Amino acid sequence: MIKRVEINYRGIFQKNLAKKIGSDIVMIASRMGQQAFSNGRYSDAPERNGIPCKYFAFVSPDLSEEELEAECGAKLDIDEANVSVVLDDTMCKGVEPWGWHGVRPINEKVVPGGYLLVFSRKDHSDLLRFIGKKPYNYHLAILEGDASLAGLWVNKDDLTHERALGGIAALDPSLISIEAVEEYLIEKTKDKRRAEAAREAYDSLRAEAPKPRVRLVTPDEGLDWPHEIPVLPKWYEMEEGIVVPAVKRGFQLGPRGQSRNSGFKRGTTKSQRPVVRFDLCTKCTLCWAECPDECFDPTTDGYYDIDYQYCVGCGKCAEVCPVKECIVMVDELRFENDDSPYEHWKRDPKGYIQWAEEKKGRERITYPEVTGKGVIVTQGEVMPQGKIVGVKKVEEVSA
Ligand code: SF4
Ligand code: SF4
Repeated sequence: MIKRVEINYRGIFQKNLAKKIGSDIVMIASRMGQQAFSNGRYSDAPERNGIPCKYFAFVSPDLSEEELEAECGAKLDIDEANVSVVLDDTMCKGVEPWGWHGVRPINEKVVPGGYLLVFSRKDHSDLLRFIGKKPYNYHLAILEGDASLAGLWVNKDDLTHERALGGIAALDPSLISIEAVEEYLIEKTKDKRRAEAAREAYDSLRAEAPKPRVRLVTPDEGLDWPHEIPVLPKWYEMEEGIVVPAVKRGFQLGPRGQSRNSGFKRGTTKSQRPVVRFDLCTKCTLCWAECPDECFDPTTDGYYDIDYQYCVGCGKCAEVCPVKECIVMVDELRFENDDSPYEHWKRDPKGYIQWAEEKKGRERITYPEVTGKGVIVTQGEVMPQGKIVGVKKVEEVSA
């Protein structure tokens, strides 16, 4: 028997974090007398900021080391997952990893009765608005927390890794038990806080009050998956010479007017998206010129629409926009679709402004220059229609 864990993480932000979780599952399961093995998905390019990637751990109580490795060696993807960990809840909208075509449901690999374990501050019904339906029952478990940047360059110490181990132990003790997790963490780090963080996560998933954090999801719950699953060509179907057709070039003014690669929509890379108040836009061109992914489409009347299917959520447009409250980055899980915001505004200017302000809310989240210090939360302002005020850029200064 083989039990499989997949760890869904965002590119370079969480690479070391995911790897640490995978390798510690191996160490802990081995101490419990099992064979275990971990690897990353063949073909991911985790150096790309925020790109959805996967790390795996395999545990077997009865196979030999060679048998387990033969079964679970580097593959393009995992076959199935007993536990699928999600380190950033915005990946619940689907993931399109580098080199793997098509937006895939986050729970695609979860087996019947298996577990999707998400770090989130949202509740089950909020997340199920975005997660694809499965034809069988499985469980959705939520560990309260934000998307950690603990894997950026070096492993920053915010105890997410220990909490993930405790969470996995609560869901499937046959993989790793909480006692083995605690013993391993204390022995390895001599730091009681790490074992306590694992135990806290374990207890929170096991507790029924104030509300259960693990919930059965039935086949009628979730989203009818809107993205087509592409069929990759077999090797014998490939032609000689250029086998990947180039993107046909094209440009016209207006929404979706530029040619883009329909085979790789990078939008699942983002955890926030820019919301534009077109009534405040001065048509300065900066967002269009600075967007690294060329997501802005110039319109016939001089504005710039956004194609959210390709936006990676880097925040550069919001950073360079010179007008106060004109572009604001907003939590990706507040949006159901990738429709053109410009078309919405043209159709119903007043309604669009109201919609944009509701989505923005009042809190503005920014990240400090030095990661691992948490987020900076400030209060935004609702600008009256058409009121253009220059934004004052403030540099972060270390104390
Ligand atoms: S956040 Fe802005 S600059 Fe960054 S990819 Fe999206 S549209 Fe482009
Ligand atoms: S940067 Fe701001 S003001 Fe300039 S064109 Fe873009 S949205 Fe308009």
